[in-house]
Amino acid sequence: MAFEGLAERLQDTLTKIRGKGKVSEQDIKDMMREVRLALLEADVNFKVVKQFIASVKEKALGQEVMKSLTPGQQVIKVVNEELTALMGGEQSKIAVAQKSPTVVMMVGLQGAGKTTTTAKLANHLRKKHNRNPLLVAADIYRPAAIKQLETLGKQLNMPVFSLGDQVSPVEIAKQAISKAKEEHHDYVLIDTAGRLHIDETLMDELKQVKELAKPDEILLVVDAMTGQDAVNVAESFNEQLDVTGVVLTKLDGDTRGGAAISVKAVTNTPIKFVGMGEKIDQLEPFHPERMASRILG
Ligand code: GDP
Repeated sequence: MAFEGLAERLQDTLTKIRGKGKVSEQDIKDMMREVRLALLEADVNFKVVKQFIASVKEKALGQEVMKSLTPGQQVIKVVNEELTALMGGEQSKIAVAQKSPTVVMMVGLQGAGKTTTTAKLANHLRKKHNRNPLLVAADIYRPAAIKQLETLGKQLNMPVFSLGDQVSPVEIAKQAISKAKEEHHDYVLIDTAGRLHIDETLMDELKQVKELAKPDEILLVVDAMTGQDAVNVAESFNEQLDVTGVVLTKLDGDTRGGAAISVKAVTNTPIKFVGMGEKIDQLEPFHPERMASRILG
């Protein structure tokens, strides 16, 4: 389970302060030292940890907390609120275009879970928002990506637009959007090309698709298991493409959780969904507050 180590350490630390009728400055300092270590160990970006610790300390040492009747509990509340804020505060929802269809570009490196997530998102949009998405197979480089999306489409009984792997992603996107308009699809989900590494060719191609498709949403799919690498990937994609949201996959795995906590703070891009398994219905909207409560117990 994700966050297991972090949750355990933080909960241990916070338990020590919870019941205290009086909290000294030293208590807070001791607690924050432990919180800092727990976050670093969970692979949270060190700059993010530094800022987090500073802002919790400032608030926890304020009069409101120190002079309250239940200072221990107030300190924990501060930690909870700051952790929630760090992960984006309010839940960030998927875009809805004023004029249909809403175009969503799915981007990411190979293996992150982009194709699977595209299908999961289509399923989510239909089930939870009553939408009628068109899936678009524009990942022409990974062998089998097109077939994979077609298989998932069949499983969902949803149409998949594809032109094989000899047509450029830009052309595929263009024709797909026309078709979506003709057939009254309200969402177009474009599974774009991924590669093993970030390179100029990949980014140039994605920029071209972006230019043409004018997406309302660019969702970057990153693998939570890769920790700080996921955050670095997010930073690079964001610099080049102005990503509007992140989907963090494989949060069901044994990840330490650093990516989930750092992505928003480092890239200023909210996590919109998390992948919680390989199955088509294992995609969940990301709720910073619930995640913080889950970590803090
Ligand atoms: P792509 O190359 O980015 O399109 O990656 P795929 O969609 O093919 O996914 C790569 C692998 O990750 C597949 O085996 C997926 O089943 C798996 N995967 C995707 N999302 C999740 C997730 O949230 N949890 C788990 N456990 N596996 C996932």
